[in-house]
Amino acid sequence: MRALVTDQDGPRLVGDYAVPEIGLTDALVRIEHAGLSPLEMAAVSGRIDHDGVIGHELVGIVEKLGERAAKSPLLGKRVVASPDVACGTCDLCKKGLSVHCRNRRVIGLRQLDGTLADYIALPVRNLMEVSSKIDPEQAVFAHAVADALHVAHLAPVEKQTYVTVLGDGAQAILAAQVLAKRNASVRLVGAREERFGLCERWQIRHRHISEPGLRADQDVVVVSLEPEPGPNLAGADAVRTALGMLRPRGSLVLQGPPVHVDGLDLSLSDHLERVIRDEMRILGARSGRIGEGLDAIHSGLVDLLPLITRRANLNDGVGMLRVAGEPNQIRMVVEVAA
Ligand SMILES: [Zn+2]
Repeated sequence: MRALVTDQDGPRLVGDYAVPEIGLTDALVRIEHAGLSPLEMAAVSGRIDHDGVIGHELVGIVEKLGERAAKSPLLGKRVVASPDVACGTCDLCKKGLSVHCRNRRVIGLRQLDGTLADYIALPVRNLMEVSSKIDPEQAVFAHAVADALHVAHLAPVEKQTYVTVLGDGAQAILAAQVLAKRNASVRLVGAREERFGLCERWQIRHRHISEPGLRADQDVVVVSLEPEPGPNLAGADAVRTALGMLRPRGSLVLQGPPVHVDGLDLSLSDHLERVIRDEMRILGARSGRIGEGLDAIHSGLVDLLPLITRRANLNDGVGMLRVAGEPNQIRMVVEVAA
């Protein structure tokens, strides 16, 4: 099968990658669309330690089921997948905390082949059926939307006066979309003015990073830590800026990627004195529930099409990586079906 792989020799499209074997509780999914995000770029550049097929988002059709999954109703159905694959046997999995599994693998990012290929084998429990009413191309973002909703669940924004989302990558924009539905005073503070048009389209308040002072008046600041190309707010000083914006007893939400990314400089230790003095709350946010993401897409809670700035085909190979790395790209959808 075709697969976009990376290792020490760099990224390349190969045509003879072995179709994955399925385990007893797995499904073989024929991939229709995959996402190409800054995480894939980080895997290719080595900022994420991953060898093998890249890609962590997918929409596809279940073509085959393992012996112990034979009764699953998903055969022949269109599905999306949660990228975190839990072991099911560690103490945390047994406590119902499989999202924090001690042996967690992540599709296309850690110890598992990814979605920029014709097929992927995944545990059936990771899959969720996509309603025929949802545009398959938008369903690619079910996990990204779920992560934004997770921030909304964690961040108490409804009754707050001042809420800032710091960042202007796709995750920050999605978080701002979701939070602004709960509290119209939510503002996005970004570095790329060309993205503010999107905020205007959705009537989300916005400011350039050079404008707002560090006035210690924000109730909640959400920092989206994304390994974005080009100017962005995910690197050094994002936490310093966020803490400078927060009022005493304010909440800082750090929304991060599903795996470690080199170069996301949190430098939190430099600021802990301030955290203690002003009794701030710091919350980590990673993975939401993919079913909630699908529901939000179905109900129109989020507007995704303007975030798709490019479309590509798997046959474009490494050429699409070059395009995806351009700073004006927000998210790319890759057509995989031949
Ligand atoms: Zn586990």
